[in-house]
Amino acid sequence: MSLVRAKKSLGQHFLKDQNIARKIVDSLKAENISTVIEIGPGMGVLTQYLLQRENITTIPVEIDQESVAYLYAAYPQLKNSLVQGDFLELDLKTISSEKMAVIGNFPYNISSQIFFRVIENRSQVEEVVCMIQKEVAQRIACKPGTKEYGILSVLLQAYYDIDYLFTVHENVFSPPPKVKSGVIRLVRNTTEHLDCDESLFFRVVKATFNQRRKVISNSIKGLTPDINRDHPLLSKRPEQLSVTDFVELTNLVSSSLK
Ligand code: SAH
Repeated sequence: MSLVRAKKSLGQHFLKDQNIARKIVDSLKAENISTVIEIGPGMGVLTQYLLQRENITTIPVEIDQESVAYLYAAYPQLKNSLVQGDFLELDLKTISSEKMAVIGNFPYNISSQIFFRVIENRSQVEEVVCMIQKEVAQRIACKPGTKEYGILSVLLQAYYDIDYLFTVHENVFSPPPKVKSGVIRLVRNTTEHLDCDESLFFRVVKATFNQRRKVISNSIKGLTPDINRDHPLLSKRPEQLSVTDFVELTNLVSSSLK
């Protein structure tokens, strides 16, 4: 069986190190979950270990025809589970109506879009274990007050407990990426619903970070013309605000709109 030729446009960097692959799969807790979606299995370096785990059904989702052909040949047991297609277009409800986990060495060029899909599907996605660009991993896991803290940090931390697990060097991939990688785990927290208008919360987070150098009283102007400017949160910048602060800010914006 010939190996898959790496295509840059699909973010293909194949992991060569079996120990790291096993460690990534072992990081998945999969508590009370029976379905695991693997994004971008490639040649199956993670898939082989997922298939060894009892009590879970692995659904690999792969966009690349050449990888799909390879996987069918190497793992005939994937015959009825492998989905050929774009994860970003996938309706998770067609896979299962139950809660599920997502795992993968993500294509780095679309990792942010994958996380936005996770946030949209937060009622179903209980856990995510993934390898992504190290900087993005750190940004997602970091606390308020750091300059890396951004939109995805707030939105993901609102609904998930996040752990940065370990760093992976570029030379364990073929071809090696230009950047280091990081493995993180996200586990759904107990927040069913934030204590504010959630769609407004999303807009507040985006609006303030899109002008992250400005104080909030200025960056929020597009959302509300008339807000009580004395509130202490309004003189801060978005990277200083925790999830709870953003909830409070959202309620402030909300009441100013009434
Ligand atoms: N898991 C493999 C491959 C990682 S490279 C390994 O660790 O070696 C990223 C993989 O994601 C590639 O196989 C690529 O074809 C696939 N991919 C890229 N974009 C995708 C998308 N939108 N949906 C599903 N898979 C995608």
